[in-house]
Amino acid sequence: MTDKNPLRSHIASANAPDCDFPIQNLPYGVFSTEGGAPRCGVAIGDRIVDLAKAEEAGLIDAQGTFSQPVLNDFIALGREVWDRTRARLTELLAEGGAETIPTVAMADAQMHLPIRVTEFTDFYASKNHAFNVGVLFRGPENALPPQWTHMPIGYNGRASSVVVSGTDIRRPMGQVKGEDGPVWTECKRLDLELELGAIVGANSSMGERVSVEQAEEMIFGYVLLNDWSARDIQAWEYQPLGPFQAKALGTTISPWIVTTAALEPFRCKGAERVNPVLPYLEEKRPGFFDINLEWALNDTVLGRTNYNVMYWSSAQQLAHHAVSGCPMRVGDLLGTGTISGPSRDQTGALLEMTEAGKNPVEIDGGTRIFIEDGDSITLRGHASGDGYRIGFGECAGKVLPAQQ
Ligand code: CA
Repeated sequence: MTDKNPLRSHIASANAPDCDFPIQNLPYGVFSTEGGAPRCGVAIGDRIVDLAKAEEAGLIDAQGTFSQPVLNDFIALGREVWDRTRARLTELLAEGGAETIPTVAMADAQMHLPIRVTEFTDFYASKNHAFNVGVLFRGPENALPPQWTHMPIGYNGRASSVVVSGTDIRRPMGQVKGEDGPVWTECKRLDLELELGAIVGANSSMGERVSVEQAEEMIFGYVLLNDWSARDIQAWEYQPLGPFQAKALGTTISPWIVTTAALEPFRCKGAERVNPVLPYLEEKRPGFFDINLEWALNDTVLGRTNYNVMYWSSAQQLAHHAVSGCPMRVGDLLGTGTISGPSRDQTGALLEMTEAGKNPVEIDGGTRIFIEDGDSITLRGHASGDGYRIGFGECAGKVLPAQQ
């Protein structure tokens, strides 16, 4: 994207080139201030537009949905309303716009889950990650399953344990493989997975298939997503039906949903195809976005990668999800799968980065193989424009000791 004179806002903090939330972004979230109910907002600079109040004041019309404690009802109004609302917010927030638009300081707000997550499905779409993890679990010959380059592989996760950034995560107890049978223990191999999550913004009916083009239109936006993973529990339980309790302990998402409209200028190709795909998975245009991503353990950034390394786009994943006639619903969350580039410092999980513990990583004041109690994991991401960036904010969580 080249735009030498990017549009500026009358909210001065939004005009800094390294601000995650310039007027070009306008991501949606749900916030509350002391004594107030959770309601919908849009991030601009270091402030939040109080959309409920803006609607009450007649500045914007979203059929009353902005006073809800989740964005589902607004999202369900459809793409035409999304586009109209974005255009109106741009007008109100641009230099010379409505300086009376009600805002609150981000510092005074508490963020909540932006949507009622109806269902959570997680995929496995980075070839580097799938291969690396496959080697660790099954050896190099069987690392990549034969169907992997033909269909997006996923599993149905739990919506009930999806939490917003800032929520502590409790180390799980569980069953792992011991020398002489199963052992009851606290998880000793707790890991992160750096992902994006696509938010489904339209329903499909049972029995109805969805094309990749329709799927693109159905995606409202994206969040950062950390799929916390208990590797020792996973290794013992995952065959033949896939991960279960290893992934159910918690999934953290960032509070701001960056819309596909804001990401559109950064659309790009993903990884090179190794074979043609069946027609129902063919894309007519590139399905990825150039989004720089990083993750940090406490204060040390350990991994840096880009969403464009992925093999299957969220639109392809959605089309595949509905191919059996499975209905998709507003508020469904689709995890992209761990986003890992080819080199060690581009991996999105400690399992890969440390080669299952063989090569510890160095952090400020020590080393790590997996996550220890008291550690925090923070994901960040942004797309770089000329003079501005479309940022996601942070997706953070701290690990608490297990309850024995
Ligand atoms: Ca995952």
